[in-house]
Amino acid sequence: MPNLEPVIGLEVHAQLNTRTKLFCACPTSPAEEPNTYICEVCAGHPGALPRLNDKAVELATKAIVALGGQVNAYSLFSRKNYFYPDLPNGFQTSQLDPPVGSGGGLRLTLPTGTEKYIRLNRIHLEDDAGKCVHDEKRDRTLVDLNRAGTPLIEIVTEPDLSSSREAVDFLKKLRNLLVRLEVTRGRLEEGEFRCDVNISLKPQGSPTLGVRTEIKNLNSFRFVGQAIDYEIRRQTGLYESGQAVEQQTLHFDHLKAETRPLRSKEEAHDYRYFPQPDLPPVRVSPELLATVEKSLPLSLEALTSHYQSLGLKAEVMENIINHHGAPTYFEETLKIFPDPKRLGTLMTELFLPACRQAGLEPGQALLRPAHLAKLAQLLAEGQLGKRAAYEIFPDLFASGSNPETLIQAKGLALVSDSAALSDWARAVVAAHPAEVAKYQAGQKKILSFLVGQVMRQSHGAADPQKATQALEALLNPTDQPG
Ligand SMILES: [Zn+2]
Repeated sequence: MPNLEPVIGLEVHAQLNTRTKLFCACPTSPAEEPNTYICEVCAGHPGALPRLNDKAVELATKAIVALGGQVNAYSLFSRKNYFYPDLPNGFQTSQLDPPVGSGGGLRLTLPTGTEKYIRLNRIHLEDDAGKCVHDEKRDRTLVDLNRAGTPLIEIVTEPDLSSSREAVDFLKKLRNLLVRLEVTRGRLEEGEFRCDVNISLKPQGSPTLGVRTEIKNLNSFRFVGQAIDYEIRRQTGLYESGQAVEQQTLHFDHLKAETRPLRSKEEAHDYRYFPQPDLPPVRVSPELLATVEKSLPLSLEALTSHYQSLGLKAEVMENIINHHGAPTYFEETLKIFPDPKRLGTLMTELFLPACRQAGLEPGQALLRPAHLAKLAQLLAEGQLGKRAAYEIFPDLFASGSNPETLIQAKGLALVSDSAALSDWARAVVAAHPAEVAKYQAGQKKILSFLVGQVMRQSHGAADPQKATQALEALLNPTDQPG
């Protein structure tokens, strides 16, 4: 028996971040009661006509461009016919040919360090179905159509993945990208990002693909990994015992960690796709494409090299990149006070942890970029000590006030008043005759110890530079003019 090699492809469904449904004005937000966000269109009343949501087309275009695919200027909606109780029209409105996007892909870094490009076959628009809810008490199944008509994009990969690990890495990277672009909110537990997995085995190196099975509707990265590993073991077992793998659609039972058949697999022709006569072709104008291209944030690779050129440390860089909304906030702050290293440190050590704790995105924080920039400037100019900055930060974050006002109110500004500094310096010199003698005998390094003592005397309020000058004036009287 030759070594068998898994061949895996994914069909990812991402719910688009729109306020309303794909073909009507019903809200996409969660409703408290079943069947409240519905109308004639999404409830499939005869004669009701759908109207396409422009925002959905814009978001799909954004995803296609970011994934390096081709945006088709002209695409068509088709009816995908099947019966299911939560599908009131008796068909799903989807795209067969041409879809809104073709090609593209994502680059993965394998554990060996080598890179692998996972190609996309297509990206298309479609609407979601409602939900069947089983009422255990009354032993009946009820239909909730609140979700019916919610806009989705389906992202279909080529069968370029070879292990559960690659599949999970791909999904995580794809989700991060789409969330960063605000194409989807991507909440897995809400089913806003879910996928079907196609999987088959073939003898290593063989160009012919084996019979594949499809595992439906996985909405957790862990389940995707478990389902793929289970299916690889199951299919290997069948081949080894001389049995055939049957083309099937499977359900993954996460409690038993195994797949179970749902139905024998359909082909495209089983759905009797035909062009949806109620909708005109989808057109993506050159203007829309240009607007989308301009609105795209830098790719992850471009952002990383931009941050490297600013001299940010790897840790600071990762922190900013992986925090949703942080790169934009960082850029805005940088425009006001262009000191990337100091700002990067403030973001990583103070601002982002505070955002996480408050459950806020950077853009929602009361502390605006101008005031964070001001804080960095006060530190850079020596008007505020690091310790004082840490001390006022919680208040600053909670109130969003100007740091200068807060520092004055709390009396935290560094003291650079020469009378006060001379007093502290004199007291330190008097208290440390041995160190003073060493300094005057030529051990100039001991000065930093004495500066430290002045800082201590002043409870951190002295400006260290001015303290050094005050000490030097006392210890080197010959330097004094006159
Ligand atoms: Zn509706």
